[in-house]
Amino acid sequence: MQERLQKILAQAGVASRRNAEKLILAGRVNVNGTCVRGLGAKFDAAKVKITVDGKPLAARERHVYFLLNKPKGYLSTAKDERGRRTVLDLLPEVKERIYPVGRLDNNTEGLLLLTNDGTLMNGLLHPRYQVEKTYIARVAPPPPEAALITLTEGVELSDGKTAPALVRVIERDPAQARVEITIHEGRNRQVRRMFEAVGSDVRALKRVAFARLTLAGVRRGAHRPLTAAEVAQLY
Ligand code: URA
Repeated sequence: MQERLQKILAQAGVASRRNAEKLILAGRVNVNGTCVRGLGAKFDAAKVKITVDGKPLAARERHVYFLLNKPKGYLSTAKDERGRRTVLDLLPEVKERIYPVGRLDNNTEGLLLLTNDGTLMNGLLHPRYQVEKTYIARVAPPPPEAALITLTEGVELSDGKTAPALVRVIERDPAQARVEITIHEGRNRQVRRMFEAVGSDVRALKRVAFARLTLAGVRRGAHRPLTAAEVAQLY
């Protein structure tokens, strides 16, 4: 497949696409022994020899992307030194070294992306990107109206005030409520801590959407590859 040189360099993990452009413009990139200084040229990475500062590009690993419906009881890490189950146990056929994009708590379920594309992963996790994540939380006791307003406007946590969130009560009874909450940050245990801060305990938590991706058609414990269009939207 023919791709622009800066994209090939970014996908190989050499630098971000912008910094790869700088490397090219600085004359530090050779293709088949010839210095390429333009940003428009396209190459097939599998068919040419590319060097940066004279060093060959590491053999390029195929990038893969999966959407997993994580059940409770699986750690969002690649490996656990205590031998507990990790999300990778749910994708045994995948040979590439993939990693989860961010974390869900052991007792949280729902949508988790996994990839070996470091550039995309760093972008999605960077606060600048403000990726929307939607959760459904079962909480007790049901938060009163004032608490919902506080959650929406931002709640004071030990690591600072949270950014505005979208909050919608799906159902409530005297003992508990089901609340949908959309946040843009990705702090540790953020949703649980936000509800705790307004006096409700999260009894169950599920992530139902990440960026524009949802769990549609992916049952608990199952996964599917992202389509090329879905990957392009995340970039
Ligand atoms: N917020 C939490 O509290 N836990 C998660 O797993 C994800 C978001």
